[in-house]
Amino acid sequence: SKQAYTRTKPHLNIGTMGHVDHGKTTLTAAITKVLSTRSGGTFVPFDRIDRAPEEAARGITINIAHVEYETETRHYAHVDMPGHADYVKNMVTGAAQLDGAILVVSALDGIMPQTAEHVLLARQVGVEHIVVALNKADAGDDELTELVELEVRELLTAHGYPGDTTPVVRVSGLRALEGDPRWTGAVEALLDAVDTCVPTPVRYTGAPFLLPVENVLTITGRGTVVTGALERGTVRVGDRAEVPGTGIHTVVTGLETFGRPMEEAEAGDNVALLLRGVARDAVRRGHVVAEPGSVTPRRRFTARLLVLPAAEGGRRTPVSTGYRPQFYIRTADIAGGVDLGGAAVAAPGETVTAEIELDRPVPLETGLGFAVREGGRTVGAGTVTAVAD
Ligand code: GDP
Ligand code: MG
Repeated sequence: SKQAYTRTKPHLNIGTMGHVDHGKTTLTAAITKVLSTRSGGTFVPFDRIDRAPEEAARGITINIAHVEYETETRHYAHVDMPGHADYVKNMVTGAAQLDGAILVVSALDGIMPQTAEHVLLARQVGVEHIVVALNKADAGDDELTELVELEVRELLTAHGYPGDTTPVVRVSGLRALEGDPRWTGAVEALLDAVDTCVPTPVRYTGAPFLLPVENVLTITGRGTVVTGALERGTVRVGDRAEVPGTGIHTVVTGLETFGRPMEEAEAGDNVALLLRGVARDAVRRGHVVAEPGSVTPRRRFTARLLVLPAAEGGRRTPVSTGYRPQFYIRTADIAGGVDLGGAAVAAPGETVTAEIELDRPVPLETGLGFAVREGGRTVGAGTVTAVAD
């Protein structure tokens, strides 16, 4: 039988972010390679990270682009998204769970639109700590790399991060993957920066548990499994659970993390929950699994809403009452209407207060972050400031 997961080190959730082709997946593979050599972890090759979600099923844990590794002091779950659209969606909806992020910027290309978009979203969803990997340093020249570093520091500062003191480590994921000692050393330096600059978070464990559902799958002979990162609380085998809005009341009959059974999951853990007697199609991404009675889905709320400027990939025209974009809230993707109050408009770049009515109810609470998307682009970001009855 499978080895149980034992908690010996603090667990943190991190992820790579950054523009397509800047080397996020290569760097992710390189990190696992370096750590497999240093401390006997499991090397996860590039094509095992950068693959379709359906192909990732293993055990009852299906986390599309999660890899797991350990440094001397921490256990990490690291998320790397395949494409920009999925990336933003997953980052936005799940990023409230990210304790820190590795911003990957190609030293050859510098800041690109998705670099800026990911930094902005990270800020909006409350990712507190960023470490920069200035990648492809093997191929860049010093002067250009220097300029890119300055540019990245400015970008971070502009979004409320401490750009002047953020660690910026020059790496080459590609050369480290090939085993070049200069560059494996650089990846180690990057991991040291993550270990020291991303503090161990205080977990919100003293609350009723809540799991935003990322994936649903069926394990033959066992039943329906939901996966995701536990947002708050602790959950054990035998706990009662409900899926608000669906009428499902159930019991957690199995609990795993990264394919290994565990006794108790706590806030921050990536988990798979086996649910008793739940039909595969009764629960889906966007639902939450929660302690019975602890949350009530709602449709109407007030929010502070930032309309992204065109320069950051946002709209060119203002938003007015009647505007109907998609809202990404936790893992849910829901259409909704915006009311700015009478004839008021919000120009690109402005932050306004808005009343929002979703097409279907989801659990909402003050402080919850969300993204606003339109035709596959992020055009805004917001925070719930009040929930209507
Ligand atoms: P992602 O889209 O950000 O995940 O980028 P990938 O990891 O898929 O890399 C994109 C391309 O950049 C691939 O052709 C990689 O081989 C190349 N690449 C990635 N890292 C490095 C690096 O450190 N140096 C060089 N020269 N090329 C790299
Ligand atoms: Mg990739």
